[in-house]
Amino acid sequence: MSFKNLGLSSELLKAIEEKGYQKPSPIQEKAIPPILSGRDLLASAQTGTGKTAGFALPILNILQNKPKRKGIKALVLSPTRELSAQIYDNFKAYSTGLSLKSAVIFGGVKQGPQVDKIKSGLDILIATPGRLLDLYYQGELTLDKVEVLVLDEADRMLDMGFYQDIQKILRILPKERQNLLFSATFNTEIRRLANKILKDPLTVEV
Ligand code: AMP
Repeated sequence: MSFKNLGLSSELLKAIEEKGYQKPSPIQEKAIPPILSGRDLLASAQTGTGKTAGFALPILNILQNKPKRKGIKALVLSPTRELSAQIYDNFKAYSTGLSLKSAVIFGGVKQGPQVDKIKSGLDILIATPGRLLDLYYQGELTLDKVEVLVLDEADRMLDMGFYQDIQKILRILPKERQNLLFSATFNTEIRRLANKILKDPLTVEV
């Protein structure tokens, strides 16, 4: 299997080549085609499996092919600032040849620079739940254009007590959207969350 068989654009294939990736990892092979076709996904994948590219590449491909509309179209929720920053680095690296803008927001640092980034116009936002809600309630961002939602390391988000925040965020988002849930473990809580969020999901395990 090569990246060329997965249905990704030439710009993304070039970015992958520049990253030096020879072939898709198992999670990428299984996740990229259904995400491109618009399916909801429940994926079990640990850090280190290439799961970030597994959702970042198809999301960029989807947004690249759509008529340009203003607003945050993809929202990625992640439990920690470190993980959020890594996800952002992935999106930035893969979108060099595309006119899609991403930014990352997390707590524990000043809001000002993050607000400036949001105001400059974004297509993709990576966020920890708490800071996202803070800025939302302050009127600094709108989420009414979100078409794709990713919950990354969902089990860790629940462990860290983000369940209520996630519920609040779900109520703010448009009902019609694609949902991707990544988790290292599938326990009862994760299954309950998945049942609540995902529509006819494909389950992918690696
Ligand atoms: P992740 O599991 O998303 O945190 O990725 C783990 C590491 O694997 C990161 O350093 C990625 O840059 C790298 N990576 C992702 N996909 C591939 C691939 N297909 N081939 C080689 N390395 C990859």
